[in-house]
Amino acid sequence: MNLNRRDFIAAPAAALATSLFAAETAVPWQRKIRRVGQTNMTEHDPAALDVEQWADYWASLKVDAVLISVTGILAFYQTKVPYHRKGKFLGSRDFFGECCAAARKRGLHVIARMSPDLNWEDAVQAHPEWFQRDAQGNAVHHGEDPRLFRTCMFTTYMTDYMTAIMKEINSLYDVDGMFTNAWPPLGALPVCHCEQCKNLPQPGSIAYWDKFNERTIYLWKLYDSIAKEKKPGNFYFANLGGGIRSTANLVKLGEICEWFQCDNQGRGGDDTPIWGCALQGRVCNAVQKGKMATNVTAAWSTGVPRWRNVYKSPQEQQMWFDETLASGMAPYHHIIGGENGMGEDRRWLEPAHKYFEWMARHDVHFVNRRSIANLGQRAQRAAARFRPGRCVRYSQEREGHWHFRQRISCAHREAA
Ligand SMILES: [Zn+2]
Repeated sequence: MNLNRRDFIAAPAAALATSLFAAETAVPWQRKIRRVGQTNMTEHDPAALDVEQWADYWASLKVDAVLISVTGILAFYQTKVPYHRKGKFLGSRDFFGECCAAARKRGLHVIARMSPDLNWEDAVQAHPEWFQRDAQGNAVHHGEDPRLFRTCMFTTYMTDYMTAIMKEINSLYDVDGMFTNAWPPLGALPVCHCEQCKNLPQPGSIAYWDKFNERTIYLWKLYDSIAKEKKPGNFYFANLGGGIRSTANLVKLGEICEWFQCDNQGRGGDDTPIWGCALQGRVCNAVQKGKMATNVTAAWSTGVPRWRNVYKSPQEQQMWFDETLASGMAPYHHIIGGENGMGEDRRWLEPAHKYFEWMARHDVHFVNRRSIANLGQRAQRAAARFRPGRCVRYSQEREGHWHFRQRISCAHREAA
């Protein structure tokens, strides 16, 4: 709503208030959020977590939304979807429902978090067609836990099984959106020899990347439509990249993506530089056109030498939050459960509380007024012009498919 001084004086007060209110409420909640929180629930948490304490912590950080685990590799509620395995400490408890209600009571939005990437041996036996296969036809084990198997995104696992869980969540709970962790894959594209994937172009080829994007956008729209069955304002989103790394076509996804989730966690002890945040912010601004972007900063370690970005000190944690803010994204504080659900490593709880609380007091100064995406795009354009693919090859050469990233870089330039 644009009013000049004359219009403002001439407008009846009631009409003005109504139209100002309408302009305010027309902006969806997820485009106004400043802070987000997430605890990754562990299998033991349903037996140990003090739900009120968990919700109090997130409310004290003045987060606008929390992500709550529906399933990682285990169900956190009394699901009836076959092969959605319940955790051994769940018992008869509706753990997800209790967390959901506690968050709601404190005025927090709730996003249902799911992980479609893995399932267990009994699912492999019943639905061999759901799983990734190696060149010899064996189901592919998860690298960290051989009891788990990798699902294939081109199969009915994504269209039958995942959609059944999403519809079940809609039928049972008051949620504001749905999120998938670990899909679409980040870092590397799948190499799968299942019956479905045998019909696809050679993995690693541009033709394969096109099919990958086609499938990703199809599933994204499908999941978004299911989210909207609950409430028209609900939406679906997923992790889309870390630093400037991404597998999917971000320009295409930016057209349908309501919330761009950046995953900057420093998994696996890699050498993620902090300036990756700034590049990430520029990429987000370029493709999101003012829609929401958050940057996940994981405040927990997974043991030596595996580490998360925030591991060494509270100052490092603050540095990542600062960089996120400066990049025009909303900080996303991520901890892992265990030890009564508040994290095995609690060093990060209070520094994050202090930072978020300080930020909330100064929210008025952290409103994105205009995009600085052109800076980022110009940098990419210049790099592409003088040294093709240079700015994106930092991570690409290691992962062996830098040409895909070059193509994404070109797509960004076209969108500039
Ligand atoms: Zn496959």
